[in-house]
Amino acid sequence: MRGWVIKLDRGFPLVKIENGDRCGEEIRCQHATALVKQEKVRAVIGDNVEVSAPEDADMAQITKILPRECMLVRRDPAERTEAQVMAANFDTVMIAEPADQLNLHRLERELVVAHETGARVVVLLTKMDLMSDSSDESKKRVRAIVRQAKDVAAPGDAIIPVSVYDKASIDEIRALIPEDSKAVLLGRSGVGKSSLVNALVGHDVQQTSAVRVSDGKGRHTTVSRQVIPIAGGGYIIDMPGTRGIGMWQSDKGIAAVFPDITALAEKCRFRDCTHHQEPGCAVRAAVEAGKLSQARLDSYHNLIEENNEQAQRAEVAKRIREHPGRPPRYSRHHGKR
Ligand code: GDP
Ligand code: ZN
Repeated sequence: MRGWVIKLDRGFPLVKIENGDRCGEEIRCQHATALVKQEKVRAVIGDNVEVSAPEDADMAQITKILPRECMLVRRDPAERTEAQVMAANFDTVMIAEPADQLNLHRLERELVVAHETGARVVVLLTKMDLMSDSSDESKKRVRAIVRQAKDVAAPGDAIIPVSVYDKASIDEIRALIPEDSKAVLLGRSGVGKSSLVNALVGHDVQQTSAVRVSDGKGRHTTVSRQVIPIAGGGYIIDMPGTRGIGMWQSDKGIAAVFPDITALAEKCRFRDCTHHQEPGCAVRAAVEAGKLSQARLDSYHNLIEENNEQAQRAEVAKRIREHPGRPPRYSRHHGKR
């Protein structure tokens, strides 16, 4: 049988069967021992899987994870030298950032991780009602926030101001998730993801933090990642409780978010120019000519540096795993590969 993983929590993946006699059924599965032994892969939300459910077995088994069309990967918050796949097989990544507490550096990082997937990226500026009333002043304020986000986003990224109290803005998001398509919702906790999902679906499927607080359990209620169907539309994959997104091998993502710098870098004298000290650096020349802001170049440098350090740490950890006992050699690799 074939199916896709629609829910993942501490327990066993819930797989919705998509063919055969049991088509449409949702079955709890465990990973087949052979699959787990071979490699360390585990099914993630959105994975297409093969399932076997022999009559005599206690539980259905995932026997194969089909190749992923795309995936959202972050640095494992617990194991800093390993990657964690957060979701697979989606068309759009929606980044939720609160309009009233817009953090451009965090947005930049989320954009890089989102663009690394290769999927379409949309930025949702949430809680816009907190920034606006009907005055002209507030309209200006909203436009300024949208512009700030646009300035750090990649050229084609849609920036959408939203509020759960503004039905038109919810409809705008819904229109971006047509039938059969899948969108992943990303953003740190508290930005309004659950409220958005509930507004999109039309009833409460996700607990919002207001509820979490009032039920006396605080914000630490265990919440699961799940695929949520939108009536008449596609699916939204919510990732509640995400504290932070560490980059993981995000060269492609950085290039997508900084196409201006990538294009300038083509004209640097040295192919491996790091745009720090080298003569004939077209990137620094653009800053000096006022065509590129120093702040933008600083952001770029920070992300590149973090990405390189990350790659190096992962490389060292891999070598230690493969050759335990041998002292690690640090690579001196910088800049372009
Ligand atoms: P999550 O942790 O990202 O899922 O965020 P929640 O959906 O739980 O929302 C966090 C808090 O922000 C809750 O108190 C919500 O009521 C509030 N909130 C969410 N969306 C909006 C919005 O559009 N406007 C306003 N004013 N508050 C919102
Ligand atoms: Zn340069």
